[in-house]
Amino acid sequence: ATPTALMVGTGRGAQLGILLKGPEVLESTRRVDTIVLDKTGTVTTGEMTLSSVTAAPGYDEQQVLAAAAAVEAGSEHPIGAAIVAGAPNPLPEKATDFVAEQGVGMSGTVGGRRVSVVSPSKVEADLPDVLADAVAAAESGGATAVVVLADETGAPDGKALPAPVGVIVVADRIKETSAAAIAEFRRLGLTPMLLTGDNEGAARAVAAEVGIDDVTAGVSPQRKLEVIAELQSRGHVVAMVGDGINDAAALAQADLGLAMGTGTDVAMAAGDLTVVSGDLRVVADAIRLARRTLGTIK
Ligand code: ADP
Ligand code: MG
Repeated sequence: ATPTALMVGTGRGAQLGILLKGPEVLESTRRVDTIVLDKTGTVTTGEMTLSSVTAAPGYDEQQVLAAAAAVEAGSEHPIGAAIVAGAPNPLPEKATDFVAEQGVGMSGTVGGRRVSVVSPSKVEADLPDVLADAVAAAESGGATAVVVLADETGAPDGKALPAPVGVIVVADRIKETSAAAIAEFRRLGLTPMLLTGDNEGAARAVAAEVGIDDVTAGVSPQRKLEVIAELQSRGHVVAMVGDGINDAAALAQADLGLAMGTGTDVAMAAGDLTVVSGDLRVVADAIRLARRTLGTIK
């Protein structure tokens, strides 16, 4: 590869709305055969909105929402943003001592009580029927449910015990360009896969709508990395497209890490290539450009 030809490729990449970390990125772009896509913020807009709030018996919906929003004020996750945006402003009480656990949820102290907002899959306590039903309905419809836990006294030793007090459902939209981009990946001979920390129901609903058959859902950020490593050990050259902080490790593991421009600075730093517009079709353009550019200089 001559430097001049690579420079041309890089320059045209910038015109397409792609930032390459270095010219050598074109080489891995050319060899990719599998494209792993994060769901939230990559295939979907990542702009989640609040759909519903359900309170456990004896609790109040508005209070559940206010407590959850106070905690999520400390989160960078689209789920947190949806809950904050859907809650009354200003909130009656702010939270302190925030802890974000990637792929799990967010917690904080509100009015002297520990409150967390977490994935239903991480809740050990049994959910009251009304909450379990709310989770099931949301997930079968392709939405995302989170459980609000609040410390209640009641443990045998007199200590506080986290009790499920409500379920909040949020949903986002599939990007208008995603289905066309995935069809384009297939035309380029790439196998698309959806890899997400979100629940199986939401993942399957999105995958069906955009034309992806291969779905791995409910995975931790660490597991995302392992899934990519397993594909590589079977001889695949893997591109990973992601947006969030929780994708940084997987992006770094991939042969080609692509960060969506709508994502966080951390993901962008981990990506070899940044798609400025957030439009997945640009990824297909980049792969075509890399093949063409390197094809001419071999
Ligand atoms: P994705 O792969 O779709 O980006 P994440 O790994 O970010 O998903 O999150 C996985 C799951 O963890 C979410 O679907 C949600 O259940 C839970 N979760 C993550 N962050 C938060 C948060 N700030 N508040 C509530 N739940 C969260
Ligand atoms: Mg994400």
